[in-house]
Amino acid sequence: MVQTEHEPRTALRIILAKPRGFCAGVVRAIEVVERALERAQAPVYVRHEIVHNRHVVERLRKKGAVFVEELSEIPTGALTIFSAHGVARSVQDEARDRELPVIDATCPLVTKVHVQGRRYAKSGRTLVLIGHEGHPEVIGTMGQVDGPIHLVSTVADVAALPLATNTPIAYITQTTLSVDDTRAIIAALAERFSDMVGPDVSEICYATQNRQTAVRELAPHCDLLIVVGARNSSNSNRLREIGVEMGVPSYLVDDGSGVDPAWLTDVKTVGITAGASAPDALVESVIAALGRLRSIEVTQLDGVEENIEFSQPPELRHEEAFPLAAPLAAQRT
Ligand code: SF4
Repeated sequence: MVQTEHEPRTALRIILAKPRGFCAGVVRAIEVVERALERAQAPVYVRHEIVHNRHVVERLRKKGAVFVEELSEIPTGALTIFSAHGVARSVQDEARDRELPVIDATCPLVTKVHVQGRRYAKSGRTLVLIGHEGHPEVIGTMGQVDGPIHLVSTVADVAALPLATNTPIAYITQTTLSVDDTRAIIAALAERFSDMVGPDVSEICYATQNRQTAVRELAPHCDLLIVVGARNSSNSNRLREIGVEMGVPSYLVDDGSGVDPAWLTDVKTVGITAGASAPDALVESVIAALGRLRSIEVTQLDGVEENIEFSQPPELRHEEAFPLAAPLAAQRT
């Protein structure tokens, strides 16, 4: 039963996952846009949402960032930023051909996957990418490797691969996958292919791993799990799925306005986490929304302390290096 204003407000315990929210790659990407806006005259053009969060994008838009999906939408000579998800080589080539000055905010962990993929392909192995079709990171990674690359999202996809079992293969992974699903897919690949190499599943991005582990620890303590994050945020969706797998009703909300009072029926404890692209202010807005419905007590589970930081792209490290010329050739690995 949903409480009305006239009924006594029963206490609601809120437990926050740790870690949650922004990862180092997202912090870096947002800083790239902010610094570029400070140091170049607006507008600054960003190809794709810099990170998958509407609130972040809106805030940057107000400061002068213009978000586009294609380089053709960017005027000649305008400062261009590639999002944290990475881009295909064709996009880099197009930017170079048009002599657009570019700052690449691709997360260094995504770049690491690109480098791995190119190395494996160069060694003559057939490349398999574990990831979700259509996700910008997957499109970018597939476009960073010369030669064919097979995309698998499920164990069933592995069985359907049109490859002989003695094909020498190598796999790489999208950074924001479910760690458990990825482990199962790698096991299926290992079972089917006798000659396989690839990174250990523990090499999936640290932030993805830590947030998923934190939800696994949080879920048994909760009657309800709220994940703060955007619908198109891959890692946020995975967090919600883990809650569901663990038998806890789990919902993904953009912010406090997404909280449905009906969810709280018979609920004594709510767990809250946030995807890697969700700012802390949105978690606060969810807590505030719950506080308007019940009297709340907020605690946080112990978890991993993250202190990873990524340095800024070279164009933004030194004041004198700005404004920049098209730097893409130098960035290629
Ligand atoms: S989730 Fe991982 S790979 Fe993605 S931006 Fe964050 S640190 Fe980088």
